[in-house]
Parts: sequence; C-alpha cells; structure tokens
Amino acid sequence: MTRRKDKELLELAMDMGGEEAVEVIKALEKKKEVTDEELAEITEIRVNTVRKVLYMLYDQGLAEFKRIRDKETGWYYYYWHLEIKRLPEIIRAKKMAELKKLKEMLEEETSEIYYWCGTEGHPKLTFDEAMEYEFQCPICGGMLMQYDNTAVVEELKTRIEKLEIELGLKPKPRKSSRKSKSKGKAAN
Ligand SMILES: [Zn+2]
Repeated sequence: MTRRKDKELLELAMDMGGEEAVEVIKALEKKKEVTDEELAEITEIRVNTVRKVLYMLYDQGLAEFKRIRDKETGWYYYYWHLEIKRLPEIIRAKKMAELKKLKEMLEEETSEIYYWCGTEGHPKLTFDEAMEYEFQCPICGGMLMQYDNTAVVEELKTRIEKLEIELGLKPKPRKSSRKSKSKGKAAN
C-alpha cells in the first residue's frame, strides 16, 4: 500500500470509527491474517469493540475474513485481513457526499441575508423571522444585525474548489496563470 493510500485509509477509519478503528486497521496492516481476539490483545481494545470495527470495515468492503476450523477443538476461527481494492471508490463517494453538503451550505448562506445578535450559538434569522421578533434576538434580546457571512462564504467556496480539483471535476489551477483571488468583487 502506498503511503498516500495508507493515510487515506486511516483518515477514513478515523471518520468511521474513531481512534479505535484506526488502531484496529494499523494492527491488521501489520499482521495480515489475524483473529478478532488477537486483534483485541494487540490493540488492548475490548473484543466486542474490535468486532464492531471489523464488521463496519467488512460492510464497507474494506476487510474480509476466512473461516477456519480448528481440527482439535472443532471450533471455528475467523481470520481477518484488510481489503483495500475498493478504497478509492469509497473515498470518492465520501468526497462527493461532502461536496454536495458544502454546496447546500453555500446555497443556504448565499440565498438569504441573515440577522444575528452576534452571540455564538444564538439563531441566525431570515429577514421575515427577524421582523417577527422586531429585530431582537429571541434568546438574549440583543439587537439583530445583518450577519456578515463573507468569510463563511469564502471558506465554503475554497473548500468546494479544493474538493472539485481533488475529484477531477475541475482542472488544477496553474500557478503562473492563477486568477487573482476575488478581492475585486464587492463584498456585500
Ligand atoms: Zn442573542
């Protein structure tokens, strides 16, 4: 596995199952074929949690197992290994979903002007809503002012562009002919 793929896999694991999923994957990478109980020992994570992570990986097509019967005890053991063939596909799907979400957020930020008291966590109201409250915050009673979302919009646009480039939906900007950032545009 390339370092890049490994990094992507671990990031994906972090998103899906947090620190524990990352530890399980690292152990799987080292051991190649390993039982859930061995994984629990190596990672010092409870075997139930290890199993949960393994099923989640299996569900995503990122892990597979072989069932092997122990001749002496007659018990079955499951030997797990990583399967990263589908990794690029999964990461692409995840990025596409993220892109869609960012575009919706951008749409929401740019389609309306919002009014806000300025306190983090207090609601941002549309003009009509703000009217209803006579331009007073429904929580603290502070005066509602037009919410300047220029920074938020810029941030969203940057993230969208970055994703679109990563996904190959947009060509990489060449450094020499890079457009001057939209500073010229009116900021309201
Ligand atoms: Zn408020």
